[in-house]
Amino acid sequence: MGRDVAPVYLDYNATTPLDPRVFESMKDWYLGPPANAGSRTHVYGQRASEAVELAREQVAKLIGCSPAEIYFTSGATESNNLAILGLTNYGDRHGRKHLISTVIEHKSVLEPLEEMRRRGFDVELVPVTSGGYVEPETIKKRLRKETLLVSVMHANNETGVFQPVSEISKSLMESEIFFHTDAAQTFGKEVEGLKGLRCDFMSISGHKIYGPQGIGALYISKGEGHRRPLEPIMYGGGQERGLRPGTLPVPLIVGLGTAARLAKDEYESRWRIAEKFKRHLLEALRQVEHQVNGDISRSQAHVLNVYFPGVDGEALMLSLREIAAVSNGSACSSADYSPSHVLAAMGLSEDRINQSIRLSWAGFPNVQLPTSFFDILERLKIK
Ligand code: PMP
Repeated sequence: MGRDVAPVYLDYNATTPLDPRVFESMKDWYLGPPANAGSRTHVYGQRASEAVELAREQVAKLIGCSPAEIYFTSGATESNNLAILGLTNYGDRHGRKHLISTVIEHKSVLEPLEEMRRRGFDVELVPVTSGGYVEPETIKKRLRKETLLVSVMHANNETGVFQPVSEISKSLMESEIFFHTDAAQTFGKEVEGLKGLRCDFMSISGHKIYGPQGIGALYISKGEGHRRPLEPIMYGGGQERGLRPGTLPVPLIVGLGTAARLAKDEYESRWRIAEKFKRHLLEALRQVEHQVNGDISRSQAHVLNVYFPGVDGEALMLSLREIAAVSNGSACSSADYSPSHVLAAMGLSEDRINQSIRLSWAGFPNVQLPTSFFDILERLKIK
């Protein structure tokens, strides 16, 4: 294949391309007059503020909440940090210093939890099954009177496996324990599942749904008429009702709003296309020895984590470099080459982990697998 042909992009879980319609909606906010949504003294500021509030409504509509429950952040990483670290003082004051999460969370949950441990909190990370999901019972068994927060991701970024967040949230309903879900990989894709979900905090990202990078949101429930007792982790201009200071990035927020609106209109057709591609891919994979990592009956339509016995994952990715962009797991940790903590937590051997790659794709009609993919697999096979 000629060098001038761009590799097929199959790493949508790392980031998605910007939808041109999203870009169109953002463009004038970059090229037009300056617009600080906090400037209340002139028309430019007022227009910017209206655009921000429209985007807030668009995001809220997608998860079926009130716009007043949406707080813009720089992305799901910051939202996760805020949802966890922001409870420090409340936990301290009320003697609720026990936190529960899972071993397969994204680093942007695991590392703030590690920080909570350093702040004197007792953090329990519960194990998952070999299928890559946590059993609700495993969490229920560990709940205590002083448990402050349970944090479980909606679907895992490496395997696409859904976590039973609805059952977990139901088991917390009678208690005062807060529930957080990292929905970076499901917001805008699994719309119905998130709409009915009862949780206190939900982390959202823009660049997994064809929106811009550097923007996300934290949903904070206003249920029972009071705001959850989160405190800011940064201090400054008092934006976002004092919880997340900093000049609002109007173009990015408008882009996130448009991406949310488009996702709401199109998520079903996107899901159908992704699901169809998954079936094609599974059919095609039958020509080579492989096993899927994670329980495929519980996984998202646009991602597959596959083990190719005898095929070194790094070598495969290098050989595929010119024809397909794939990954060996989370982009955030793939630079350090340490074996995936998610696959390891599922009990997979180091060899199996090293011989696995993640493919993730779009819900748009041009999604395809390069034909030479299987030739390369065969060439790399250690006989
Ligand atoms: N959580 C999960 C599950 C993710 O997949 C990601 C993105 N890799 C993040 C959090 C971080 O999101 P962001 O890039 O918006 O900070």
